[in-house]
Amino acid sequence: MSGTETDNRRVLERLATFPRCRLAHLPTPLEPMERLSKHLDGVSLFVKRDDCTGLGLGGNKVRQLEYYFGQAIHEQADTILITGAVQSNFVRAAAAAAARVGMKCHIQLEERVPDVDALHRTSGNVLLSQLLGATVHSYPAGEDESGADARLDEIAKQLRQQGSRPYIIPLGPTHEPLGALGYIDAATELLSQLDQQSLRMDHLVVTSGSGSTHAGILFGLRAHGSQIGVTGVCPRRDAQSQQLRVAGHIEKLTSMLDLDPGVTPADIGLTDVSLAPGYGRLNDATVNALQLTAQCEGLLLDPVYTAKAMAGLFHLAEYGQISGKVLFWHTGGQPAIFGYGDALVRHA
Ligand SMILES: *Cc1c(COP(=O)(O)O)cnc(C)c1O
Repeated sequence: MSGTETDNRRVLERLATFPRCRLAHLPTPLEPMERLSKHLDGVSLFVKRDDCTGLGLGGNKVRQLEYYFGQAIHEQADTILITGAVQSNFVRAAAAAAARVGMKCHIQLEERVPDVDALHRTSGNVLLSQLLGATVHSYPAGEDESGADARLDEIAKQLRQQGSRPYIIPLGPTHEPLGALGYIDAATELLSQLDQQSLRMDHLVVTSGSGSTHAGILFGLRAHGSQIGVTGVCPRRDAQSQQLRVAGHIEKLTSMLDLDPGVTPADIGLTDVSLAPGYGRLNDATVNALQLTAQCEGLLLDPVYTAKAMAGLFHLAEYGQISGKVLFWHTGGQPAIFGYGDALVRHA
């Protein structure tokens, strides 16, 4: 690994003070993408396959849930509450984790995406969450994180009155980003994988949604002394607002772990080139990235996060902003493909 042994040991010791519930298949594979690289000027592309974390069709949320469920079990909870978009991978993965550890799960689906079709409401992650046994609540308002969190509090209160012991996985950025701990651990995993394969990455690209994955990776790499450049691609907010959000997570992680890896605001790289027309909505570059990756590598990306991130990576490569060995962190999300089936066919 890159850092001194003391650095590396200190990160692991601090992480180990948080309760963790093992749920993911780890380590996830690290694969070269030789055929797709030929489409990218000066870039040799590798993919970290966190779509293969295993539980309930996998994705990045399984690593995050290991720490939320660790805490929930520590508090002797019997019911998990979580909120997300209608095609949220987080709520689907939480429903799977709850089933796995024998808890009940209440999910709240927010109407964040305008003008969706019937498939969007019934297929993909919605279907899976139902099969996994979750109780579904609907939240009508679109972009209202604190409102959505407040509604979860109300549901929790009712459940408590009925004798349950609920644990809430909160959404808003004012809470401790427990899930980011899973990505500090993942950064550790990546660095030892690179060591074993005698590889060195010049740059890393990942989606930056709630920012937990991005913040965890950046914090973890720097805490281990690795200076690999990291760019987050925005699927939800513009780069400026996202920068504040990720910086906020880094600050909280610094106090949660009592460890300062020295991440400066300038180190929080972000681009929102593929965001328009907004969260969960397609554009040409995103659909092209999804198709090209599928047809060159047999690798499926999802329309909401990873195809937008890959479109961002293509843009950075085209404008010479990244070069050499580039790692794309696949965060999963493929079930949403089916919720977007009609929209993808219309756009193709
Ligand atoms: C949630 C999600 C993301 C974003 O991760 P954050 O930690 O919320 O930034 C990226 N990709 C997929 C597939 C997701 O489900």
